[in-house]
Amino acid sequence: MTSKLQRTEIIIVGAGFTGLSAALELKQAGVDLVLLEARDRVGGRVEAGHNGLGERIDSGGQFLCEDMPQLMALVETRGKTLVETYVDGDFITHPSMSVIQAERTYHGAMAIRERMNRIEPDDPSIEGMSVATWLERQRDPTNAKTAFRSMIEGLWCLPMDRVPLWYLIDNDRRITNEVPELQYFLRETMQSLAEDLAGDLGDRMRLNEAATRIEHGPQGVRVVSANGTIEARQVLVALPPATAAKLDFAPALPPSLGQALGVWKSGAVIKILVRYPKPFWRERGLSGMVMWRDLPGLFACDASRDAEHAALVVFIGGPLALRWQALDEAGLRAEVTTRLQEALGPDAGNVIDFSSRDWIRDRWSGGAYSDLIVDVTARDAERTILAGAPPVHFAASELSPSFPGYVEGAIVAGRIAARKILAELQSPIATRASGS
Ligand SMILES: Cc1cc2nc3c(=O)[nH]c(=O)nc-3n(C[C@H](O)[C@H](O)[C@H](O)COP(=O)(O)OP(=O)(O)OC[C@H]3O[C@@H](n4cnc5c(N)ncnc54)[C@H](O)[C@@H]3O)c2cc1C
Repeated sequence: MTSKLQRTEIIIVGAGFTGLSAALELKQAGVDLVLLEARDRVGGRVEAGHNGLGERIDSGGQFLCEDMPQLMALVETRGKTLVETYVDGDFITHPSMSVIQAERTYHGAMAIRERMNRIEPDDPSIEGMSVATWLERQRDPTNAKTAFRSMIEGLWCLPMDRVPLWYLIDNDRRITNEVPELQYFLRETMQSLAEDLAGDLGDRMRLNEAATRIEHGPQGVRVVSANGTIEARQVLVALPPATAAKLDFAPALPPSLGQALGVWKSGAVIKILVRYPKPFWRERGLSGMVMWRDLPGLFACDASRDAEHAALVVFIGGPLALRWQALDEAGLRAEVTTRLQEALGPDAGNVIDFSSRDWIRDRWSGGAYSDLIVDVTARDAERTILAGAPPVHFAASELSPSFPGYVEGAIVAGRIAARKILAELQSPIATRASGS
């Protein structure tokens, strides 16, 4: 292999929405950059593939809502089509309950979540406490607690005893939507948006080029990949924290930063799209939304593009995903179809396509919507990572001040990181250090 040394101003590692958003911001400011992506596609945890019917479907991040301003603006400027998620009709909890009981249970779970979020994350009375320990101490009815657990394990994709209470509160407070987060999805897929952004980067975007090592170099930094070494003034590591922790840094990162990257764990999620000949649940006055009380972490809702493309999306999150991961495709299909039939009736067995994407232990992005902090003492981890070790900077949706763990969060995190880097590039100290 001929290892050619190349030069640029900024290297960005990772072409998810964080890296893409940072790259576009820097490009617009006239900065020379290279964006390295390990996979043969951009988008990261946003991804699309073809189902057995030849339709392009989102197998990763998909939904958005009007309370996500940056993503909504991008959707508009890029001319994408919003499909409104069908929510009319009754929502099912399974095993079934009366409508009144189901409503009471849902409101009970939401009341627990609101009570939790009213606690200050640095309240000494919750120091060292996990979400599970706190929940045990609440005096709510069992049904409400079970629904709360299902909601938390479904959304954050880790067992509640692993998640520090202060972290969940701090995280949840940053997710500020008032309308449901599943309000819309894109007819063209969310992945098409990532591809459009990458298109604007031209040959600055490099696929199949995993960074393996980040070194200090005469210009600032050097990033090593199988294709050679690139020198730059600064590098932005736009990876989820647990993935960033696996990179080789020379010299090693300051101990506090190494520790801060080490306290994150990826959750577990399997996403499924089940296609039907027609949206049979609508005819029965159902929304298609199902929450299983006996299987925390299992959730389904209508994701039909239109009445001719009837579909339910099924999310399996947390400990249940780890259990069902052991099933082969036929076993998973049988398990999920049976659960849908139990909840929505025999028509749910009339499946015309079943497409599943197992994200657990995904090599390049972790295993779920986002990595979570699992060390109750790691109160400074996010701050420490965001401070970075210039010329090495870090950003990811997880670290966003708004909507962490969402596409919106990734856009916000990427743009903030780009502005910080621009400010550093323009500072006299950085200019002197790079000899320009
Ligand atoms: C199944 C699923 C469903 C989701 N649903 C939604 C949803 O409906 N709505 C929503 O808003 N969010 C959703 N999310 C979350 C959302 O997709 C993420 O929060 C967001 O896309 C994260 O973007 P990111 O750029 O921070 O990280 P990533 O997307 O993980 O990007 C990191 C990139 O770095 C690359 N990479 C890793 N290592 C290297 C290396 N060494 N060198 C070079 N490149 C590397 C990866 O391949 C990846 O492309 C979902 C996620 C999943 C998995």
